[in-house]
Amino acid sequence: MTYQELWQTVLAQIQLNISPANFATWFASTKIASQEEGVIIVSVPNSFAKEWLEQKYNKEILKILRALDASIKEISYQIDFPAAKIREPIKQPAPQELPVEQLGFAELEIDKETNLNPKYGFQNFIVGPFNELAHAAAEAIIKEPGKIYNPLFIYGGVGLGKTHLLQAIGNELSKKNPPYKVKYVPSDKLISAIVNAIRNNSIEELKANLRKVDVLIVDDVQFFAGKEKTQEEFFHTFNDLYQRGKQIILSSDRPPKAIPAITERLKSRFEGGMVADVSLPDYETRLAILKQKTMEKNAEVPAKVLEYIAANIQKNVREIESALNRLLIFQKINNKVPSFEEAKKLLRNIIISPSKFTNPTLILQAISEFYDLEDKNLFYSSRKKEFVKPRQLAMYLLRKELSFSFPAIGRKFGGKDHTTVMHACHLIDREIQENEKFCQEVDSILQKIYTLEA
Ligand code: ADP
Ligand code: MG
Repeated sequence: MTYQELWQTVLAQIQLNISPANFATWFASTKIASQEEGVIIVSVPNSFAKEWLEQKYNKEILKILRALDASIKEISYQIDFPAAKIREPIKQPAPQELPVEQLGFAELEIDKETNLNPKYGFQNFIVGPFNELAHAAAEAIIKEPGKIYNPLFIYGGVGLGKTHLLQAIGNELSKKNPPYKVKYVPSDKLISAIVNAIRNNSIEELKANLRKVDVLIVDDVQFFAGKEKTQEEFFHTFNDLYQRGKQIILSSDRPPKAIPAITERLKSRFEGGMVADVSLPDYETRLAILKQKTMEKNAEVPAKVLEYIAANIQKNVREIESALNRLLIFQKINNKVPSFEEAKKLLRNIIISPSKFTNPTLILQAISEFYDLEDKNLFYSSRKKEFVKPRQLAMYLLRKELSFSFPAIGRKFGGKDHTTVMHACHLIDREIQENEKFCQEVDSILQKIYTLEA
């Protein structure tokens, strides 16, 4: 057996016992690097993974390895520094990619053509008094797109299911027979596409592309504020689609009237169809959402814990979900369902102000440990690619966990402008939503933050 085959066998067995997301977080970038006198050297991507594997999975891995090869006595985990690899002579044949699908942790893929994420559907969308108007409008549109409510404009606060609903409509319509040609675009992506197209003289091409669709969905149009060129181009595209009976669906964090710095003519287009809000879910709906997500994740959570979450997290469905995820990670790692007391402890920073339990130093420490950034100064100012993402994440967590203001965060990172910080937070927020693996990374970092001693 080659190292690779040996490790694949181990992974295949481990995978049977843990969730796909956990598996992807801890095992996706691991491999056997070498073996010497009964010691297997496993290379891991960072110190956090090393610690985690040593503490939580070593026994199980060793058991599986020994069943395959009795001469194995021990495992040593080593961090694989990407930079060091370059110096090694590459004699071995190029390692094959892990057969992702075979291992079963392939996440549902975002469709390249439509940009839709198949995980957002109606089957997992809970309807309650807070969103029933928006939901009813969505249903009407699915029956007869382009006919009844055009455009459909959905607005409401962060994490209340706007993106989910927009995508669910898109998914439904693209599954119809014959299928509708759907395109989903987050507005900031549309803005940069337009800016780039103007610069590259390809605006006609971009416009033609947008006008090819039957259903155009633009998420978070509040970002159009102050973007005059975008508004201009979008206005014409909107009219063109509208006149040809194509469906337009928009979302925003506020009603059209309240979006600052957009032209009156665009505002009146936004208001010209159906405007529906999503407000805050009531206790029963929050509990129903929790039960739905628990079922989806195949998890077991005591009713009392679910009720505790539903009672205490009131303003954001995304936070309800991350509370649940935190319990699931605990469950996988400790192999037991958390008790009510344990759950309360695990969720304390979501439910009670996080600033009681952490501070900026701990946040930065956890991030640099996770990504193995030794030179902390670079972390603050370097333009090197490997520092950019951790830095953006640090900005995001200072904002989210400690409610730092954007200008204050900017000052902390070498006098950056507050718009740079806002942009960074937005990018991270989106990546968390779109990239399950990154989302798990952030969860792991949060666990680390709240287990470090304050
Ligand atoms: P928004 O776009 O309003 O910020 P999202 O659509 O991204 O919010 O929702 C945040 C998370 O909460 C998503 O994972 C979504 O699936 C979930 N969610 C929101 N509303 C509902 C709902 N009514 N039923 C089930 N899940 C929901
Ligand atoms: Mg959204």
